Amino acid sequence: MEEAKKMLNFTVGPVMSPDEVLSVAGQDAPYFRTPEFSDVVLRCERAMLDLLHAPDGSRCVFLTASGTGAMEAVVMDVLRPGEHVAVVNGGSFGQRFVDLCRLHGHEVDEVRLDFGNQITREMLESCVGDAVTALLVNMHETSSGLLYDMPLISDFCRSRGVTLLVDAVSAFIADELDMEQLGADVVLTGSQKGLACHPGMSIVALSSAAQERVDSNPEVCGYLSLKEALRNASRGQTPWTPAVSIVLEIDARLKAISKAGIDAERREIGSRAFAVREALSSTALRLVAESPSNAVSAFYCPGHNAKLIVDQAKLHYGMWLCPNGGKLADDVFRIGHIGCITAEQNAALVSALKQMSADGLF
Ligand SMILES: *Cc1c(COP(=O)(O)O)cnc(C)c1O
Repeated sequence: MEEAKKMLNFTVGPVMSPDEVLSVAGQDAPYFRTPEFSDVVLRCERAMLDLLHAPDGSRCVFLTASGTGAMEAVVMDVLRPGEHVAVVNGGSFGQRFVDLCRLHGHEVDEVRLDFGNQITREMLESCVGDAVTALLVNMHETSSGLLYDMPLISDFCRSRGVTLLVDAVSAFIADELDMEQLGADVVLTGSQKGLACHPGMSIVALSSAAQERVDSNPEVCGYLSLKEALRNASRGQTPWTPAVSIVLEIDARLKAISKAGIDAERREIGSRAFAVREALSSTALRLVAESPSNAVSAFYCPGHNAKLIVDQAKLHYGMWLCPNGGKLADDVFRIGHIGCITAEQNAALVSALKQMSADGLF
């Protein structure tokens, strides 16, 4: 069989991995109940806490689950039983938090936003009831590409004494994130977005206040128990067999990021996003997000050709772009800027998009 040409992946995750990650992925997984593996986990924890600017006393746990697993673990174990919470809901990831919170018996005040629209103080004031004690937000709503005004949300939570829980699965590395400055008690992320490792692991950073919440809550789940995860994390272990190889990938990747500097990495992602948006600014495509993240550009296609563009990119250019689901499938598609994308690959993307535009697709 002829070897297929490598597809260029410009989706929102999983994304293309750098060599230091790929070289780990090709090796046997070592046995993990060892001091050596504990050292790796503890090193990953320190690096994560450092990159997140987590406040003193924070801990970080590694769950073998996709990002949604971390979202659910937080909903189950950090929120108090039947807690009255607010969820910023501006797309499918916001909706996922709403659904998870309701599934687990929490009362939810939704801050519902039109797709791609930025949040305002007025909306927070009018939608979040006085009884609310915690607020959940997907810092970057990956379905629309919108980066929320986190300083505003953070101010609001501080002024009300509301615990802030942040899903930064697609924002981590791509956009500026300082847990301490935000006053966030939880930040969660996953292996397959900005970290550019294989999918399968998620990471939850918990401030000391969040750990106290976990400790004082009744145990409501087994596999995703944060109480168990925290107990084991103190010796650099996980309660169950982790995706050992992905932990090693994360370790390799965090070393590289720490060396290059997370700011440099973020600037690179931002400049790729800028180049693509700039190239498309003279076409009929319009950015969905009022304030776009660095990680993703979501575009409206006035001619209902979104699915066609994604198909053509795959068929003729060997490029994966990201379709949107549901009602917007024909109207919106997304381009991811995260992962290991070289300047040449980004230029190839830009030229393919320009050609599709010249061909009348948009
Ligand atoms: C990707 C993503 C997730 C996690 O999705 P999984 O498919 O479970 O990994 C959660 N939140 C946001 C904002 C995401 O972009």
